[in-house]
Amino acid sequence: MIDSALQILRQNNLKVTKQRKDLLAYLNQYQDKYINVSAVDEHMHKLYPRMSHNTIYRNIRDFNHLGIVELQTKRNVLQVKYQCDFKHVHHHHFICTNCGKVQELSQCPMEQFQRQLPGCKINGHKFEIYGICAECYEKFKN
Ligand SMILES: [Zn+2]
Ligand SMILES: [Zn+2]
Ligand SMILES: [Zn+2]
Repeated sequence: MIDSALQILRQNNLKVTKQRKDLLAYLNQYQDKYINVSAVDEHMHKLYPRMSHNTIYRNIRDFNHLGIVELQTKRNVLQVKYQCDFKHVHHHHFICTNCGKVQELSQCPMEQFQRQLPGCKINGHKFEIYGICAECYEKFKN
């Protein structure tokens, strides 16, 4: 399950330690939902009482730079989820406001906007769609 992630670590000369493996295995459970980084920190701290908070956060940041996890800040709380799509690290999400489920969107809408900003150099963008997922919507109807 975490094979792609381990491969990326090796390609980037990051040691595949037992701690990193355990961290990845834990994050892997959150493939379609964000979890607070503080909860991950707490979990890792239980497994490795001597692992510092800094190390845990640094690992998560490193994973994010390598495209292994996705980060977001919600109401000033840093949240993390496992990468949805290792082949298309750049993608967008539909997020259910009821259950928090994250679904990957395969298209990026940027091209359209680029045309509206002639002569500008765009450095980045964020795009997310919110709503009620099909599963929750089905429940509401009944
Ligand atoms: Zn994603
Ligand atoms: Zn839902
Ligand atoms: Zn995009």
